[in-house]
Amino acid sequence: MTGTGWLEGINKLLAELGKATLVSRVWVFQTLEVQHDYILQDYAFEWYAHTKYKQIGLPHFNRFKSPIVEPEYIALIESRKRGEYQSVMTRTLPDDWLKNHLVSQGVKSMLTIPIIIENQWWGTIGLDDCEREYKWTANDITLLRTASYFISSAIVRDHYRAKQHQLDILKENIACSSWELDWRRGHLWCTSEVLTPNEKQVTRQLFSLRQWLRRIYPQHRKPFLKTTLQFLKSDTSTLRCDLKILRLDGQYCWVEVSSNIVKSSAHIDNVIAGICWDITDRKNDEERLQHEATTDPLTGLMNRRKFEILMKNHFMEWTQQSQPFSFAILDIDFFKSINDRYGHAAGDYVLKQFAHIIRQLIRPCDHLARIGGEEFAILLPDTPSNDATTRLKKICRHIFTHPITHQNDLIHYSVSIGVAVIESPKTTADEAFKTADRALYQAKQTGRNRVIAVLL
Ligand code: GH3
Ligand code: MG
Ligand code: MG
Repeated sequence: MTGTGWLEGINKLLAELGKATLVSRVWVFQTLEVQHDYILQDYAFEWYAHTKYKQIGLPHFNRFKSPIVEPEYIALIESRKRGEYQSVMTRTLPDDWLKNHLVSQGVKSMLTIPIIIENQWWGTIGLDDCEREYKWTANDITLLRTASYFISSAIVRDHYRAKQHQLDILKENIACSSWELDWRRGHLWCTSEVLTPNEKQVTRQLFSLRQWLRRIYPQHRKPFLKTTLQFLKSDTSTLRCDLKILRLDGQYCWVEVSSNIVKSSAHIDNVIAGICWDITDRKNDEERLQHEATTDPLTGLMNRRKFEILMKNHFMEWTQQSQPFSFAILDIDFFKSINDRYGHAAGDYVLKQFAHIIRQLIRPCDHLARIGGEEFAILLPDTPSNDATTRLKKICRHIFTHPITHQNDLIHYSVSIGVAVIESPKTTADEAFKTADRALYQAKQTGRNRVIAVLL
């Protein structure tokens, strides 16, 4: 009636109803709890034509618990859950608990209608007449029914207002947008917080599904569609996925998309809603940690851990039909003496330069890693023995003939290389490592600055 929240409007509504129907009392009970053996109610609101009819505040009406024993009472509760009205003239009732109850309150006639909110029996609105034995008309019932609708929609509105408020608080703390997807019509509504983070004014924007898909990072489009379709069809109630989307300023950001809905198995929901928030910082941290965990900080090459995983995968995917491939371990000769002679910083510089040079000399398909102090490894896919030896010898020669200039020093150095050439699918990554290591040892033993290859 007032549009300002149901608590402000309800007493006015009850007063209008009382004056229109000329009853003694208009009341609202709220159902707090319904169990199989009792029901807990509260006498929440009341209007009375005269103070002698006042009941609100009486101790036995304050959060009162009623046992559910009589079959008639059970039937009444079931009828209220179904939203049915109850029209009563006390004198004509059978001599049961309800008659006693109404007589004790001096009620001569009563009309009640349940207030239903989202299919739940929220409470009851009733008219008591203590003066007249009144036969309620269809108009009375319609009037009271309308009042119950006013109340339920006002309560729902208040719930929404509270939810909106909670969401606003949440959004103030994280860059968070709310969205709504109408799958059938291909509409997606999204609030602007994530897409235009620097704008104070929050707007609600409409995208067609196609426009929205174009905003998604190309590699994330298919997974997003798949996840969403699965979510719509399945009976799971949670949708969660991370994806990159294009903001309106042309930059990509990471968002986490989330939706929680209660699904009835009977039908497919075509409209889903949820929130999404910016997780770019978290993703960047994850990427940085992932990078740190797999990269050698001095040279920027992949580290031993990552290389071992790569090797295992390569061995798993490799079959007899594929070309032989090679695996080499490179160890700088007398590196300790470079450190001793030019200092540790010069040693570091040599390692960095060495990594840089090797990277230039290998093919894009080769994988280079730093697997120890001055030890490196190369996986050469589709490279049989003679090819591998030729390539690695070239590296050996290049290193020997290209000393590194550090400050005023020209640092001459060389590298020894042990190679395992894998021709049999029975070979494991572990065996290849051991074999290349043995070949390297042999290269060191036989004078360094050389390549020794062993077939497997
Ligand atoms: P060999 O020809 O037998 O391989 O002799 P070597 O001196 O290269 O081998 P050794 O294993 O005796 O010494 C390796 C040296 O590499 C010892 C260590 O101080 C040095 N080293 C390991 N990691 C680093 C690093 O990150 N920076 C620098 N500057 N030196 C390192
Ligand atoms: Mg070594
Ligand atoms: Mg060495």
